[in-house]
Formats: sequence, structure tokens, C-alpha cells
Amino acid sequence: MSSRDESTAAERLALSRLTIDLDRIVANWRLLGELTPSAETSAVVKADAYGLGIARVVPALAQAGCRTFFVAWPHEGLAARAAAPSARIFVLGGLTPETGPALIDNRLIPVLNSMREIETWQDMAAVRERRLACALHFDTGMNRLGFEPGEAERIATEGDLVARLEPALVMSHLACADTPLSPMNGEQFARFKAIRALFPGIAGSLANSAAILSEPEFAQDVTRPGIALYGGAALASADGIGSAGPVMPVVTFEARILQVRNARKGETVGYGATAVLARDSRIAIAAAGYADGYLRSAAGGVAMRELARAGKGFIADMEAPLVGRISMDLAAFDVTDIPGEVLESAEWIELIGDNGDLDEFAHAAGTIGYEVLTGIGPRAARVYVGG
Ligand SMILES: *Cc1c(COP(=O)(O)O)cnc(C)c1O
Repeated sequence: MSSRDESTAAERLALSRLTIDLDRIVANWRLLGELTPSAETSAVVKADAYGLGIARVVPALAQAGCRTFFVAWPHEGLAARAAAPSARIFVLGGLTPETGPALIDNRLIPVLNSMREIETWQDMAAVRERRLACALHFDTGMNRLGFEPGEAERIATEGDLVARLEPALVMSHLACADTPLSPMNGEQFARFKAIRALFPGIAGSLANSAAILSEPEFAQDVTRPGIALYGGAALASADGIGSAGPVMPVVTFEARILQVRNARKGETVGYGATAVLARDSRIAIAAAGYADGYLRSAAGGVAMRELARAGKGFIADMEAPLVGRISMDLAAFDVTDIPGEVLESAEWIELIGDNGDLDEFAHAAGTIGYEVLTGIGPRAARVYVGG
């Protein structure tokens, strides 16, 4: 399955695996670009490319023509730089006098969020006797990171404040882009446009995945998609599961089936004996648990969650509901309805993938695809296809 055989011994021995389709990430990136043809489409690769591996995801995207990347923190910037020697890499936060030199040495561009960060970057520019690139991030209503809108005029007009800086981007972030009907989007957009007008000639960036999928006007000059590159739902939906829109799933999360056991009607399965079998059953035990990021909250018998809404696995495209609690290393699936000859040859059960929707699983666990992807632990071997 793997396009290159460079797996380590530990990976070959691993009993859970996360297969990442680099071609689909690239296809999703291209598709998002087609939706916003007037803008440059960057890629947000923070948190190790949402858990999928910055060292493989960034080169695949760079080779496809992606020139700009965003990471969250300076040390992630180092990994992105190693993966894309000539790309433009923005670091969303974490500029301090301690991290600044590494940013400069690695040609990483900090996103400045506060007056204190402006001072830090100006001081470093003075020491190096040259102008330093940056992005200016304005908070337009989220009250997370960023300058206050009121500070925009000061920054724009008091030339001294940014005399040694070269702003490459004026940006903001939407709080409710996943809900296109929210009035908050229009309010933030209006504030953003007013701020941009103070910085003529500097590129603007506002749109995350949801904004790209819902409102082309938000595209501005540089878009910043993350989750949609990785196949997750960016948009809210009426059923609460979320909608990935036109992008393709990218990951397959699987676990080895260790044994299939027969259990009698009335017996129980797993910790707490929460699952009582309603019929004679066959139970498959698979090697993935919450230590792999297979979230305990997705199973029945936890926090009042009903079995009907719990997650499920798939064997040869056939559904196998989770049964009982997920433990640290193991999960149990009801495979009674899967034919014996299919079970006999089945080595792996799909937990998330083309059958087991990432966001359905996230919903069963009471969370979102973002948290599931970034929570799949190092115990799962990463297997790359395509690229
Ligand atoms: C994480 C992040 C993004 C990407 O968001 P998605 O919803 O994953 O597309 C864009 N911009 C900023 C500032 C972010 O923190």
C-alpha cells in the first residue's frame, strides 16, 4: 500500500495505523484554490499538519505549487522550513525575545498580535540593522489573538511604530465562519475591510476553510485553509455532524483484529460490564484504544451515551458497531452480522476512513474532526500513499 518502503521496524510492528493520502490533500488544496481563483491558496500546517505529519504533507503541497504555509508556533516553523526550503512560512504566534532569533535564522515570518510583539520585532530589526517581514493580525470580534481594531490607526499612521518592519499581510480570523448565516461574519468582514483600507498595498487574509467554502468574497488575497485540506468538516450542519462540502477524505485509521470471540446472550463486554448482549454474538477485539486517540467518549456506556449513537468500525465495507467501553489499548466490535468467511480473512478493522466518516466519529465522541485528527497518537504508524 505504501508508495515508498521507508517504514521503521517499530512502524512495521504497529498494531494501529493511520494511512494518509497525500494526493487527496493536494487535490483538496487545488479544489479550494479553484473556489477562490483571485486569491493565493496557502496551507495551514500547524500541529504537525493536523496530526498527519508536516514532514510529508508540506513537501507534497510545495511540489503542487503551494508557496505559503502557516504554522502555530516557532518550533513548528523549523519543521516546515526543513520540509520546504523556499516557501514563505508564517508563524501565527509565540514571538518573544527568545524565539525571535530562530525565526530570523530560518526566514520565518511572525504574525504580530500585540504592541509588545511589534516592539520585540522592531528591537530585533534594529540589532540586525535591516527591515524584518511580519504579518499584522487584527482581532475583529473573536477576542483571541490580535491587535484591537482601535490600534490599527495608530499602527498605520505612527510611522515609527513599524519603521523597521515590512508587513507582508494584514489578517484577521472569523469566529463563526462555520455558520454562514451568523451575523457575526458580516460584522467582522466590515471591520476587516475598514482596517485593510488603512494599509493600502498590503495583502489581506481572512478566510479559513469554512470561509472559503461559504463566501467567496472573504477570500481576499491569501486564503488560509486547514481542516478542509485534511478532509474534515469545516461547515456546521443541521444534524450536528458537520459538512466537509466538496473535499475528499484523506485519512484511514485502522487497527489490527486480534481475536474474534463468541459470547452468549446476557453476557457483558468490557470494563464496567456496561454492554449486555441481547443475542448470542461474535465480538472482534481490535488493537486501538484511547491511548491511540480512539476516543473513549465515542463508545457506549460512557457519559450516558447510547449505543445507537456510538462509533462503529468497518470490515470489508461492512458495519461493525462498537460494543462496550473503549479501553486504553483495545476496543470491541459486534461482528455477529458479518459472514464468517469475511471475518476469517480480515486482518484490520477500519475505524475512520472512506466508510467510517471522521466527523461522524467525532460527533459520537462529542467533539470535532479537528480534535480527532490532532489526537491520533504516535502509537499509530503513519503510512503515506501518493505524493
Ligand atoms: C487554524 C487556523 C486556520 C485554519 O482553520 P481551518 O478551520 O482549519 O481551516 C486559519 N487561520 C488561523 C488564524 C488559524 O488559527
